[in-house]
Amino acid sequence: MSQEISHNLWYLTVTLDKKKERFLNFIKRELQRSEEKHFPKETLLGRYLNCHQFTELHLDGIFKYGDDNNLPKELFKCPSVRWLSLKYNYLDKIPPDIGRMQNLEYLALTNNKLQNKSIPYTLTFCTKLHTLMLDNNLLDALPGFLLKMSSLVTVHRHGNHNYFKSTFMWYHTDVNERILETSGSIVDQSQREPESLQFWAAQAIIGLKVNFYSDDSVTPVLKDFISDIYTRFNVCGLCNETRLASKSGFKVITFKNPYLGNTCVPFQHWACSYRCATDIEVPAREEQIAAARELDRQYDAYIRECQKQCNVSFSSVSSSAVAVRLLSHGTSDLSGPDDQAPDAMEGDWQRRSHKNCCVS
Ligand SMILES: [Zn+2]
Repeated sequence: MSQEISHNLWYLTVTLDKKKERFLNFIKRELQRSEEKHFPKETLLGRYLNCHQFTELHLDGIFKYGDDNNLPKELFKCPSVRWLSLKYNYLDKIPPDIGRMQNLEYLALTNNKLQNKSIPYTLTFCTKLHTLMLDNNLLDALPGFLLKMSSLVTVHRHGNHNYFKSTFMWYHTDVNERILETSGSIVDQSQREPESLQFWAAQAIIGLKVNFYSDDSVTPVLKDFISDIYTRFNVCGLCNETRLASKSGFKVITFKNPYLGNTCVPFQHWACSYRCATDIEVPAREEQIAAARELDRQYDAYIRECQKQCNVSFSSVSSSAVAVRLLSHGTSDLSGPDDQAPDAMEGDWQRRSHKNCCVS
C-alpha cells in the first residue's frame, strides 16, 4: 500500500507503516474538525505533527537517491521536538527554519551531502542544542558560527573530505593566505528589478543575527518570507553586514585548538570586508598559537616525567618491566576514545611540527 503513495507524501508512508492506529485517529479528528468548520490554514502534515506534539523525529533514510528531498517546513514548526535525526537522506541543504526549533537538543545530519553553505546561521537560534552529528558529509571545515554556540558539547565531523585534509594545509600558512577573496561571479537575475520593501526589511533582520522566529513583533508572514530568501545571503561573521551570496566577500579559515576536547579543528567563516576578515582571523590565530605553546609545555613536562620514572625504574626493576610501564603510560595519556582517534593522530603531528607555525 505504501508504495502507491506519492513521494511528496512520504510522511504518510512512514506513519502508515509504523503507526496505523495513530493515523486513523488523526483522520477521525480531522473529519470532526472539518464538520465544525474550524479548519485552520495548515497543511495536513502540519496538523498531523501539531496534533501529536512529537518530541522526537526519527527520519533517517526517508529519501532515496534522486528524490526531491526538500524537507517540509512543517517539520520545523514543532516546538516540542528535542531530537531530530535526518541521516542518509542525500540532503544538500538544511532549511533556515531549523532555527524555529527552540527546544532542539540533538541533531543528526550524518551521511548527507552538506557543504559549509548548506548549514544556515539560524542553527545558532537552537540554544539548547548539545549534540550535532555532521559525519560523512562534504564539509571542508566546520561552519564558523558553531564557535558561538555555547550549548554544544559534542560535534561529530569525521568522514568529511577525508577528514578536513584539504583545510589542514592552511594550518602552516601565514595570515594573508588564510583569507581568500571570493568573487561575485554569478549574476543574480533578481537584481534587474527593484526589490520590495519586504525584501529590504528581511535583509536588515537577517543581518541583526537575532532570533526573529521567536520575536512576536515579526509577523508570521515575514518570518516565512525571510526563511524563503535567507539562503540568498551571506552573513558576516563579525559585523551585521548581510550581502547577496552572488556578491564578493572573503572566506576565512581559522583553527580552534582545542575544540570540545579535541585538538585542532578548522572552521570556515564569511566576512564582508578584508578588515572584518582580519578581525576574525588574527585573534583566532593568536589563540591557536597560545594553545599550541601550552600543549608544548604539557608535552615537555610529560616527557620529563617519563624520563624521571624511567631512571627510577631502571634502578629498581628489570628493563622489560620498564618497557611495559612506559607503554601503559603512553596509552592512557596520549590517546583519546576510539571515535576521536584521527584527532589524536592530528595532535601528535601537531606536537612534532607546530613550533614552525608558532614562529611565523
Ligand atoms: Zn563585516
